[in-house]
Amino acid sequence: MLLQTSNTTYRSVSYNLELHHDFITASTNQTPIQLSNYNLKENFFDKSCLDIEINSFTRIEILHEAPFDYTKIAVEKTHTITIAKILNEKKDKDVVSLHAYVKLNERPTTQTSLRYSPEKINKKEVSANDDTGIIKLTLWGSAIDKIPKSDAYYLQKVVVKEYSKGTISISSSPRSTITISQNKILPSQSTIRELLLHTFSFPPISIQNSNIQQYTCPHCEKSVQKKDEGRLFKCPFCNSMALHSALQPKYMLKLTFKDGKHQKTITVYNDMLLSYFNMKGLALPSQFDEIVIQFLCDSTSKILYDCRNICIGFK
Ligand SMILES: [Zn+2]
Repeated sequence: MLLQTSNTTYRSVSYNLELHHDFITASTNQTPIQLSNYNLKENFFDKSCLDIEINSFTRIEILHEAPFDYTKIAVEKTHTITIAKILNEKKDKDVVSLHAYVKLNERPTTQTSLRYSPEKINKKEVSANDDTGIIKLTLWGSAIDKIPKSDAYYLQKVVVKEYSKGTISISSSPRSTITISQNKILPSQSTIRELLLHTFSFPPISIQNSNIQQYTCPHCEKSVQKKDEGRLFKCPFCNSMALHSALQPKYMLKLTFKDGKHQKTITVYNDMLLSYFNMKGLALPSQFDEIVIQFLCDSTSKILYDCRNICIGFK
């Protein structure tokens, strides 16, 4: 068991059978205890670590209040919920567990930067259904590998997301666990419009840059705003200095494609633009003109986009 003190957490072993019931009660009820006459012993595997050893001399006293703040570990009940119930009753940030058929689709795994993390994380959007409904499931990072093929899965502790217009979806979190489900669930015949993938063939008929003066710091890669005075730029995030000319512009392009009578303008964000040049084995140009030339000379690639006309990849 783990014992939490005012400043650390100890691993603990109890050789005193008489106390086991008290420990289980205290743990279940989340009540603090006071221990006396225990031994502190070096951990067998990690000599830098001390363990608490409870023996026949140890005394335990159940307290009503701890003399310090302690983290109550939520006792989590893992009853499952249906998709219809999630769609009708659940709110943003609710944590749910469910059995569902997860259907993989043609959408590529994309790399997304999270606002508070310098590292990019893989993201994949799929659909999940049971007998009661179908819902969008967003998989992040290692959760993607837990679903190598379309099948019935037991999704534990996934988070409900609610976007504008009451659109409800579910999303994996670092605390989610995903395993094969023993329940027999058949794939749904319906599809989620949002997950449908559309394509257009290169080259586009027009290219616009809707960049709103955003640049990337060459040191920390955070988005920064260029100032017009002086040659040197000081990054407000990492405080490093750079030449103004070294700042990498962040693009937001509007590409218009035409195919017979169909015409569509697709928004391409900087991340996707980087992945396009990466796919071609090229570095992202710092000049808009060079991007235009590359696009206009490309007659083999395809752009992949979703129902919001946002680019989600290239082929
Ligand atoms: Zn910086």
